Amino acid sequence: MKIELIKGDITKIKADAIVNAANSSLLGGGGVDGAIHRAGGQQILKECIDIRNRQGKCNTGEAVVTTAGNLPAKYVIHTVGPVWNDNEEKESKLLANCYKNSLKLAESLEAKIIAFPNISTGIYRFPKELAGKIAVDEVKNFKSDVIEKVIFVCFDAENEEIYKKLLKE
Ligand code: ADP
Repeated sequence: MKIELIKGDITKIKADAIVNAANSSLLGGGGVDGAIHRAGGQQILKECIDIRNRQGKCNTGEAVVTTAGNLPAKYVIHTVGPVWNDNEEKESKLLANCYKNSLKLAESLEAKIIAFPNISTGIYRFPKELAGKIAVDEVKNFKSDVIEKVIFVCFDAENEEIYKKLLKE
């Protein structure tokens, strides 16, 4: 599995699947979630509402999938990151679950290229350095015959620096 780092906007990435840092309502929000729904159009929200009607809200660490509406990607995988509340052990495990469950779901969709934002490091205040380490570890430990490339899409310069360093190691 190849790992790539891109600085920019995940809504512009032509991957098989892009991951959304959603909230448990699945009804959209700020940050990357807002950007994906804005750029992707009504179709994504419609499918999120269908999922809610079927299964209720999405729990932290879990992932669900919709199509990608007007985005260049094929699918959007919506995963709910933990809100940082200083419980390092618990919240680290939940963040790791986001990456693991998103990768599993991508694999089941036969996605070859999957792009991740820096889940939980915005409004949810997860420390960026620790979040980056968890993300890179989970991706490196995930063995797949299906997924060929994982792209980490960093929106802010701080995350970009953190990932540059982590991926050099
Ligand atoms: P969370 O609630 O999980 O913290 P946020 O969307 O607030 O989610 O932030 C997660 C990360 O997404 C942050 O690092 C933020 O800089 C980044 N981000 C915001 N907009 C975009 C975008 N359009 N593309 C990629 N990343 C983005």
